[in-house]
Amino acid sequence: MSKRDYYEILNVARNASEAEIKQAYRRLAMKHHPDRNPGDQVAEEKFKEAKEAYEVLSDSRKRAAYDQFGHAGVDSSAGGGYGGAADLGDLFGGVFRDIFGGMRGGGGQGYRGADLRYNLDLTLEEAVFGTTAKIRVPALVTCAACAGSGARPGTKPTTCPTCRGVGQVRMQQGFFSIQQTCPRCQGRGAIIPEPCETCRGSGRVEEQKTLSVKVPAGVDNGDRIRLAGEGEAGEHGGPTGDLYVQIRVKPHPIFTREDNDLYCEVPISFTTAALGGDLEVPTLDGRVSLKIPAETQTGKTFRVRGKGVKPVRGGPTGDLLCRVVIETPVNLTREQKELLQRFAETTQAGGKRHTPQEGSWLDGVKKFFEEMKF
Ligand SMILES: [Zn+2]
Ligand SMILES: [Zn+2]
Repeated sequence: MSKRDYYEILNVARNASEAEIKQAYRRLAMKHHPDRNPGDQVAEEKFKEAKEAYEVLSDSRKRAAYDQFGHAGVDSSAGGGYGGAADLGDLFGGVFRDIFGGMRGGGGQGYRGADLRYNLDLTLEEAVFGTTAKIRVPALVTCAACAGSGARPGTKPTTCPTCRGVGQVRMQQGFFSIQQTCPRCQGRGAIIPEPCETCRGSGRVEEQKTLSVKVPAGVDNGDRIRLAGEGEAGEHGGPTGDLYVQIRVKPHPIFTREDNDLYCEVPISFTTAALGGDLEVPTLDGRVSLKIPAETQTGKTFRVRGKGVKPVRGGPTGDLLCRVVIETPVNLTREQKELLQRFAETTQAGGKRHTPQEGSWLDGVKKFFEEMKF
């Protein structure tokens, strides 16, 4: 049976505050409480449904997991699969146990190991050209001594006497009975009479492992590389989780990246800007020559085709965009100052306009003041 949306059950908006969620739950709980509706199956279902929705949405971690992954992110029917995620996340420091891990694997024996996330910091060059990164990952691996069973070598897990191997028990509560995860075996259906000494019965031990991650050329911030089966070992022989390597690109001193284009700022002298010239600009793989036409204005952007990023998912390579910034000369000698003075006099005497923007700017100012007149 597919489950209804938790927000829909509580009849609240997806961005509802904690108080709103609490209030909505209270209202529904009062209405459908089994003590008020004895023998009413529909009310009982509604009550349970609201309780489950509230349990998830009132817990900020579970709510985040639900928002991202839906019911799969918080599925509690496996019995405590979600639990413990917080402590493990802290334990691992840079590596986080992903919230959607810990769900029950197929076959009903053990829980699937948690997925892990590793944040990998790359330089822009590494992201653009690709690299092989060595990462050290602390992970829970299957205990070698007991092969993951958790039972002392030579012994075996036995059927749980409380639930007779079903993993669920029925509990009487008020007017009705509810199905619950067996408290004795936590839903596994088996117990370990003599736990393995190496892993204290968990079937897993913590270990550091070094992995080699092949980063393809063209990756960008936020891209994820999935290493299947490199996450946490499953509990009691359950399947292993995956490791997600999350790419983070460090800022570059010269270039910024936007999609597949690279941007940089190039300072040029005002004489080059006025007279034109050739300019060497850096690219990620060497220099290229850029032709600056005469009378170039500050802020003009030149496009160098194909010197951007080749996208990891295919498609055309981006461009390099160089924005020129005209520098006002400093540390002028007396002679240079005199030359500029003479230059200024010639520009005023010539009768030609040498400042392309000043003219329209002055016109604009004039118009502005005219319109201001009362
Ligand atoms: Zn063991
Ligand atoms: Zn049991």
